Amino acid sequence: MAGFEEDLRARLEAIEDQNLRRQVRRVDSAQGPHVVIQGRECLNFSSNDYLGLATHPKLREAAEKTLRDYGTGSGASRLVCGSLAPHHRLEEALAEFKGVERALVFSTGYATAFGTITALVSTGDIVVLDKLVHASIVDGSRLSGAKLRIFDHNDLNDLESVLQWADGQRRANDKARVLVVTESLFSMDGDIAPLREIVELKDQYGAWLMVDEAHATGLFGAQRRGLVEELGLTGRVEVQMGTLGKALGSAGGYIAGAGVLIDYLVNKARSFIFSTAPPPSVSSASLAGVEVARSNEGAELLAKLRSAVMQFCEGSGIKPAALHSPIVPKIIGDEADALRMAEMLFERGFFVPAIRYPTVARGKARLRFTFSAAHAKDVAALTEALRVLRAG
Ligand SMILES: *Cc1c(COP(=O)(O)O)cnc(C)c1O
Repeated sequence: MAGFEEDLRARLEAIEDQNLRRQVRRVDSAQGPHVVIQGRECLNFSSNDYLGLATHPKLREAAEKTLRDYGTGSGASRLVCGSLAPHHRLEEALAEFKGVERALVFSTGYATAFGTITALVSTGDIVVLDKLVHASIVDGSRLSGAKLRIFDHNDLNDLESVLQWADGQRRANDKARVLVVTESLFSMDGDIAPLREIVELKDQYGAWLMVDEAHATGLFGAQRRGLVEELGLTGRVEVQMGTLGKALGSAGGYIAGAGVLIDYLVNKARSFIFSTAPPPSVSSASLAGVEVARSNEGAELLAKLRSAVMQFCEGSGIKPAALHSPIVPKIIGDEADALRMAEMLFERGFFVPAIRYPTVARGKARLRFTFSAAHAKDVAALTEALRVLRAG
């Protein structure tokens, strides 16, 4: 026992020495634009609850009703003990929302990416990732057994040269599948992928494309389906992924696409097969989240979010990485500096996370400001605090 703990302590110290130690911060209130931390109310600029739906009355009511009707747990995997109606209602709504044949819900976004990639490719295949994709995509790709190739972030020339290489590999093994995976709105940089061009390239080289819309679902496109919709690419992307725990205010992840894709994942996605289904109340909250996001109210909330972001960028002089992105990073570089700035903001009542390795590359530490439709009046206070910090 002593040796074990000593070993872990030494490893933790090494993390601490690099200013990379992480700690969970207890919050004694609901997640919202204001949170209570250490008995003090803070303005919260750290959440992905972009539309403020995590505390929306319609989502609460939907979850409460299902909690009364179905109880707390799902019992087992959906393949083992039967699949509860709230999950089916959510999947039907998601398919309609995304404009595809069918959808499949997983307990988390992490499990969605991980299970889907490991199901789609394996030894002998090739998986091609943007350098900045989320850990769940990297982990799934590594475990899949497929050859893993990375292209420079949003670099179409580099992507094309990787696809050319993959084409050469296919001459030796014509059954090799090539899967390209990217995010649409990048989670830590707030910029967007050149999806139109990526779709052209993958078609040209006969590759498949999976797009993770975790941060874009609910925020882009005329019907707020995501960036694939906004760019008119629905029907040209083999695998659309999204999460339910960000703008949609609930928890979980989903794949949307052809019926045969969903049938295949039900048979092969191990994170779906070997995991207890999400609580039915969570699926009902997600369904209400989809309904609010699609409604006129969703459009109004989005307009509020965008105006908060615009006000922040104008007031702080920090340029948005993409038009209408709710994620605005301020790159600091050094890990210790980023931590110090986050701490100074926290002392002034602003909760803004310092994002460090391994979430981003070493030496690319940053403050990551995220905004919500509910922020309106709080943004001016934040820009003023940043101004004072800069002056000091
Ligand atoms: C958050 C996120 C995930 C994981 O989703 P969870 O529901 O939090 O597990 C996957 N991909 C991207 C791009 C994300 O930002």
